[in-house]
Amino acid sequence: MRPVRASLIPGRSSSIAKRLAWFYTLASSLLLIFASVFLYWVLGVTLEKEDERMLANQIHELKTILQTQHGCAKALEREVTHGNAGMTSFQYHIYSRILDDVGRTLVESPGMEGEIPPLAFPATNSTPYTSLKWRSASGKTYLLAASPADAGGTDRTLRQIQVALDGSLEDALISRYERYLMVVLLIGIVASAVIGIVAARRGMQPLTDITKAIERITASQLHERINAVQWPQELVVLASAFDGMLDRLEDAFNRLSQFSADLAHELRTPINNLRGEAEVAMSRPRGASEYRDILASSLEEYERLSRMTDSLLFLAKADSTQTSPNFLPVDAGKEVAKIINFYEALAADQGVHVLCEGNETVQADPTLFHRAISNLLSNALHYTPRGGKIVFSIQHETNGTIQVVCSDTGIGIAPEHLPRIFDRFYRIDSSRHGHAEGTGLGLSIVKSIMHLHRGDLTVTSVVGEGTSFRLIFSAAT
Ligand code: ADP
Repeated sequence: MRPVRASLIPGRSSSIAKRLAWFYTLASSLLLIFASVFLYWVLGVTLEKEDERMLANQIHELKTILQTQHGCAKALEREVTHGNAGMTSFQYHIYSRILDDVGRTLVESPGMEGEIPPLAFPATNSTPYTSLKWRSASGKTYLLAASPADAGGTDRTLRQIQVALDGSLEDALISRYERYLMVVLLIGIVASAVIGIVAARRGMQPLTDITKAIERITASQLHERINAVQWPQELVVLASAFDGMLDRLEDAFNRLSQFSADLAHELRTPINNLRGEAEVAMSRPRGASEYRDILASSLEEYERLSRMTDSLLFLAKADSTQTSPNFLPVDAGKEVAKIINFYEALAADQGVHVLCEGNETVQADPTLFHRAISNLLSNALHYTPRGGKIVFSIQHETNGTIQVVCSDTGIGIAPEHLPRIFDRFYRIDSSRHGHAEGTGLGLSIVKSIMHLHRGDLTVTSVVGEGTSFRLIFSAAT
């Protein structure tokens, strides 16, 4: 039989490998996006702080010149024209302007006049200074800051310092950073998807291997076990569960094979007998009484075959759960007494005393209960010599169940046979007691009946002393 692939079965959910790959890609993409956004934010904040620091430095520088050099116009001009306080590796451009107390420009950096008008700056009433971002008419972005300052020297009037930082380089840097970030993010997401797919496939490889190992096991290789291979931890449980199933299957398969072989063997004897008798009958012309004798002898074989097929049919039905017991409260004592009554003549003939002790009502299928007890009594009668005794005892157990025990003082069963007497067709050497009509199915049927009743069946026996079969039923509710 060709193995069926899960992907070929309509309506199946996507594979675990695909789900794992998706999950991995999603998780790593989210992490990458988070890291990128965070780094982007950190860069923005750092640059902003750096800009603020540079503007503050420049204001401080100009204030110092105003203070120390008493507003020396030359020194101020030098600073305003060339001073780029707090320069970093980036070529920042800082513009400075100093206004007098009525707002007239005293000195300013070249190129500042038309580009950044004094009114663009924030009001200087707050200390130490205030800053704001501003876009000029030419489209450039500036960070503007203004601060009041003493004119220095004897001049008691106030000055206003205005400084502006050209942010275009920074903007270019940030947009370049954004582009790199996008590329890195894209590559990262694609890479994590590829890694996710490869990792999921590799991770799921043992499942494929275990499937192949299972597929290799056919009916003729039921003895093979897959746990012999070193599987990853997660699959060890699955492998041992599968091996457990193989154990049970192998056992059932062997039993079935044994059963077929036994069945063929059991059928061969009566069929050969019948064929032999027919051949003898046909070998020469015979009288009517001779033919009648031959037919009578054949009839015994037919009866044996019929009993066997009946029993097999019953067991097959019980196995396939076609038999659903019709549970009713059964007066066990009364039922056993009826069966003893039925076998009374045979028992008397064999010189065996049969009796029943105790009485309880069990929850059972009356027909099946009857059949189980009959099989036990029939066996006990066969294996109990003259003068022996067969006792049925019915008792209520402390755990609420009812036990029906069939004890005889018969020939007993050797310990080595006890585990197998419930197997189909298992018979202990029939020559020891001459029970020729036995099919070896009687106890298998009792076992099946007890299984259908979800009860229990046990046996104890001492060779030469007797045998006890113990049946456990549920009490009637
Ligand atoms: P059979 O049709 O041969 O009796 P069973 O399945 O009923 O088949 O029994 C299986 C074997 O168990 C018998 O062949 C017999 O040897 C042994 N056995 C069953 N019941 C008794 C008993 N009461 N005493 C001794 N041996 C028994």
